[in-house]
Amino acid sequence: MKRRLRRFRVTSNTSSNSGLTIKVEFNDGHIEEAVVRQLSIQSVNAICSAKTQNYLDTAARAKIIVNKEELYDVGRVFVLKAQPTDNNQAEIILRTLNQNIPLEKLMKFLDNSSNNSPYEFELNHGKFTLLNFYNYNGSDDILEKTDLFHTMQKSWKKKHVYQFERFRKDSQGKRVRLDQCRSNGNDEYLVFGSNDYLGLANHPKVIQKAKQALDMYGFGSTGSPLTTGQSSEHIELQNLLTEIFHKESCLLFNSGYATNVGMLSAICKKNDLILYDSQCHASILDGLKMAAEGGAHCVPFRHNDMDDLDQKLKKERKNYSGCLIVTEGIFSMDGDIADMRNIVQLAKKHYARTYLDVAHDFGVIGDRGLGAAEFHGVLDEIDIIMGTFSKIAGGIGGFCLGEASTIEYIRYMSRAYMFSVALPPSTVAAVKESVKIFWQEREHLLKLKENIKYFVEGLIRLGVQINYDHKSSICPVIVGDEDKLNEMTKILFDNGIYVTPIVFPAVKRNECRFRFTVSAQHDKTDLDHALLVLKLAMNHTSPALKLIS
Ligand code: PMP
Repeated sequence: MKRRLRRFRVTSNTSSNSGLTIKVEFNDGHIEEAVVRQLSIQSVNAICSAKTQNYLDTAARAKIIVNKEELYDVGRVFVLKAQPTDNNQAEIILRTLNQNIPLEKLMKFLDNSSNNSPYEFELNHGKFTLLNFYNYNGSDDILEKTDLFHTMQKSWKKKHVYQFERFRKDSQGKRVRLDQCRSNGNDEYLVFGSNDYLGLANHPKVIQKAKQALDMYGFGSTGSPLTTGQSSEHIELQNLLTEIFHKESCLLFNSGYATNVGMLSAICKKNDLILYDSQCHASILDGLKMAAEGGAHCVPFRHNDMDDLDQKLKKERKNYSGCLIVTEGIFSMDGDIADMRNIVQLAKKHYARTYLDVAHDFGVIGDRGLGAAEFHGVLDEIDIIMGTFSKIAGGIGGFCLGEASTIEYIRYMSRAYMFSVALPPSTVAAVKESVKIFWQEREHLLKLKENIKYFVEGLIRLGVQINYDHKSSICPVIVGDEDKLNEMTKILFDNGIYVTPIVFPAVKRNECRFRFTVSAQHDKTDLDHALLVLKLAMNHTSPALKLIS
């Protein structure tokens, strides 16, 4: 029968020695056998003799012992805490240095050795995060990790830790109704976390174009772009983007994610050197992982640090054939802008090509809204541009632009392009209309820029650390501590502000934050309301406010 683990941390609920001990050998040869009180995958809390106080902040070796039998060699540990207790003993906390403790295996053993186990699994979401599962050590049942994960997920849901996975019952652009009501029974929220920066997802002309294309082409695209999947909508959208960016050729992918994975894995090959900004998006990292498997040498440079990039190029460039510098125009967590002018300079100096992801800058910065390269006056000098329609158009799909030769190569060499069904014509028609509206009706871009400025000024008045000339729609409000973030999230939601809390491992543990996104659809009343509610949350007071309509 499948074993269900209720808890994740092992806790001894008796103070007596119930069979689980840890044998610690300190670096001067002293050996201590300590009664384990708590065990998690990376730490052990135990009670031992008072002498152990002397070993605070030192390293040791440890073995876990069950019923006098040495069961598991933990390897090197670090003494994080060694504090005297009132009965002439000491409490120690050991942190593993080389490996995780296999809790499930240990629990199985304990279960077998006693019918009435004094241990229980206790999940502590403060200690365990998604990262523990990315780096999971493995057990003999391949699905055991899913059980553990599910336990942790249920615990955070019960405590309303993460506000992910809410769903919309309907949406009218900036206003949505969610599955979860506020304490006043209202289910309407003002969106401050969407990627639909220009607010075009609900534009009547966009919806009309999608409907027309549905009638004309039916629902699906019916095949990969190289078989039956292309329609005149696809070709027209590619042509429109080519014209807007003034590049030779364009190709559509099914998403921004697929574009980065499909492009980078196809272009970066054996003996190529790839330098990428250390804060690049997961889709870039995944594309580069595939490239590395194919023999490319991929090296991160410090975030937006041109000296580091220059140093790394100087050191590594000569050892490789081709070289590509990969970055994003606006970074998705901080909303800061890549130093494209210097990246282009360095690319010239070291004979490298450039690859720019314009996911968050296309439709937001630059005089015509063409992103970081236009902002820095180097648009014509970027070799490959990729983007997504999930932001500029509030839709779905990705694209790449470059010289005709590059794009033709990608058409036949990119597996993500070739082996996946094309976007549905109705989606492409809607995206095309969104992009046209952006390009022909400048007021959307201007309104977005005006709103960003207004919101940023408001944030600065609240004391939020953000640059006065912050230009991105993504406005991070760094709270630091995850518990405080959760508390503030509840206040924001209860006052009708739908915003995304971002926690570790997406950002560093002490940099938990809200990622407010400003849209061209917001008006001053919306922005003022969000700022007011944020102020309430920052002050940790939560009187019920009425949403200003
Ligand atoms: N690049 C960047 C910089 C992104 O932030 C994202 C996702 N937000 C993507 C690529 C992937 O785009 P998509 O959501 O269209 O797959």
